[in-house]
Amino acid sequence: MSEEKNLNFIEEIISQDLASGKYDQILTRFPPEPNGYLHIGHAKSICLNFGLATHFGGGTNLRFDDTNPTTEETEYVDSIKADLKWLGFSWAKECYASDYFDTLYGFAVQLIEKGLAYVDDSSPEEIALQKGTPTAAGTGNEYRNRSIAENLELFTNMKAGKYADGAKVLRAKIDLANPNMLLRDPILYRIKKAHHHRTGDKWCIYPMYDFAHGQSDAIEKITHSICTLEFIPHRALYDWGIENLGIYPSKQYEFSRLNITYTILSKRKLLQLVQEGYVNSWDDPRMPTISGMRRRGYTPESIRDFCDRIGIAKRENIIDFSLLEFCVREHLNKIAQRRMVVTDPIKLVITNYDKGEEILHSENNPEDPEGGLRAVPFSNELYIQRDDFMEEPTKKYFRLGPGLMVRLKSAYIVKCDSFEKDAAGIVQTVYVSYVPESKSGSDTSGIHVKGTLHWVSAKHAVPVVLNEYDRLFKVENVDNAEGDFKDYINEQSLTKTNAWAEPALITDALDMRFQFLRKGYFYQDITSTKDALVFNRTVTLKDAWAKEQKK
Ligand code: ATP
Ligand code: MG
Repeated sequence: MSEEKNLNFIEEIISQDLASGKYDQILTRFPPEPNGYLHIGHAKSICLNFGLATHFGGGTNLRFDDTNPTTEETEYVDSIKADLKWLGFSWAKECYASDYFDTLYGFAVQLIEKGLAYVDDSSPEEIALQKGTPTAAGTGNEYRNRSIAENLELFTNMKAGKYADGAKVLRAKIDLANPNMLLRDPILYRIKKAHHHRTGDKWCIYPMYDFAHGQSDAIEKITHSICTLEFIPHRALYDWGIENLGIYPSKQYEFSRLNITYTILSKRKLLQLVQEGYVNSWDDPRMPTISGMRRRGYTPESIRDFCDRIGIAKRENIIDFSLLEFCVREHLNKIAQRRMVVTDPIKLVITNYDKGEEILHSENNPEDPEGGLRAVPFSNELYIQRDDFMEEPTKKYFRLGPGLMVRLKSAYIVKCDSFEKDAAGIVQTVYVSYVPESKSGSDTSGIHVKGTLHWVSAKHAVPVVLNEYDRLFKVENVDNAEGDFKDYINEQSLTKTNAWAEPALITDALDMRFQFLRKGYFYQDITSTKDALVFNRTVTLKDAWAKEQKK
């Protein structure tokens, strides 16, 4: 979007904070939990956090929020870093909440010493019950009155592994009658005898999100800690921790998370799709993950453009998937190399073409004056699309049929003279004659035709497989649909089609973006080899979906 756009509410706050001298420089953070691959929702948070730092001058830390040992893996850490780099961002520091476990433990001891935390032996059910309800105050228990000395000893024992998982927790001592349920003595530490991907078996107690996040922000001196709306009730606790520990006063701000039609954006649910085989992997091109989108052929530019267009709001909403596709199409139209690929072929024989074959030249990208030309072999036997021929053409049919003329893209004008059917009555061959002086670029024929067809030379063509993708879900708002989200999976989300392609595709670079004429934008799949070319359809040429819905 243009530079003159209005500041969003977070940008407003930051410019005021800088103008008033509250900060000299800002520091934001992107704090993923390494329990899955990043999705397009994370991209919104990434573009926001890194974008603010770039815009206002400052930095962004990448912080792995790895306080939950049982769901986290190094594979996820690596994928998150790769995705961020691919999106085009570099972080000021790579941090791990687990690097702060010693400091956080010290913070907890400080709270105990101040009489602001206690060890509770109650079960989770008892704790929930004693918390009361939003309209009724909670009741305390005898553990709440433990002495500081006793709490210190018990907490030391917790750390030393003397108790079983769940036998005790450390709780903040705040206010059992607070209207904000999160302030009713929240749990700070739990016992979990689990191996951690970085700290190994050093710890058997782990801090809760609310006793790690704000504290990690403060340790790193984050100025603006931006999270999604569901954390609004946590803000009071965030501030309580910072105040009572007397640490760096990071501030939390909230914006609405991204929701997109026809998809889900939850790592937990995406993990189910992978584990239960609904998709092949986290980077399956149907997945709303960054790695899936990359494999499908989306560009980082188009994802950043999308995040910019949707903007930042304080209210939940759901964004149309076609807006994302629009952004992808916009960018690909500018950069994609045009190529010709024929699916469902019918043979075209040029009866008066006696040169045997020749090399023609076709524009790589009409949108790009520097795009250049590529060589395309032409011969007297071509393949065209079956549906570009009609035995008995209707009135407004501008493609081929008996007596009709069309232009073959970047080649000649041809006229259909006859056709031949097989025993089953299916047209197999169309016979045409070409107009020698109608060659594209030096056409002196004076003939005007309405239709232009794409084609490949039969003997030069290479076989390719096209993976054509559709929405992964059948309903618009998957999160709000009744029952299990997996009931709404679109069984036809992948169609594999065999096709014939012009030979340039064999030598084209792996990372090239293509527009297969009249078919869509395509990108070579990671499984593709020179002997078995496979292309993923990144996006259709037009928004067929929107049209479908208007019917
Ligand atoms: P999920 O529910 O998919 O696991 P999460 O919020 O638990 O998402 P985290 O790894 O904790 O995932 O998220 C890292 C950052 O990305 C957080 O700041 C979070 O608020 C943000 N984020 C996650 N999902 C979205 C979304 N859909 N839209 C915007 N920001 C998001
Ligand atoms: Mg989370």
